[in-house]
Amino acid sequence: MGTRTRRTITYLDLEELFKSGMTITLKNGSHPKQLRGWYDATTNEARIYRPAHKISRDITETILHECVHAKCDEIFAAEKVTIRQECKAADEIAKKTLRKRPDIGNFIKQLWGIEY
Ligand SMILES: [Zn+2]
Repeated sequence: MGTRTRRTITYLDLEELFKSGMTITLKNGSHPKQLRGWYDATTNEARIYRPAHKISRDITETILHECVHAKCDEIFAAEKVTIRQECKAADEIAKKTLRKRPDIGNFIKQLWGIEY
């Protein structure tokens, strides 16, 4: 029953997600429930709501959070986790990833060709 943070998002993870067709859309408007981001598994799209973020690093953190959701089948394999637990783990993994790879935001921007 462990949703303990056992890993981080790697550059290889990001390349795999990009190759899988995952898209990242930066929204200038707010989410109706003030969410920072949302991953839509049916379309493999991460939507990021800019107004919920103060600085670029926060956006990178949210993108990493949504990447955890995108990889959830792999990360939470064989574990029964609620969406709430999944989000909590995603926050931890995103923070841990940023501490370990402070430059990962630039990699994300280049890979997806986005600017924020
Ligand atoms: Zn989440």
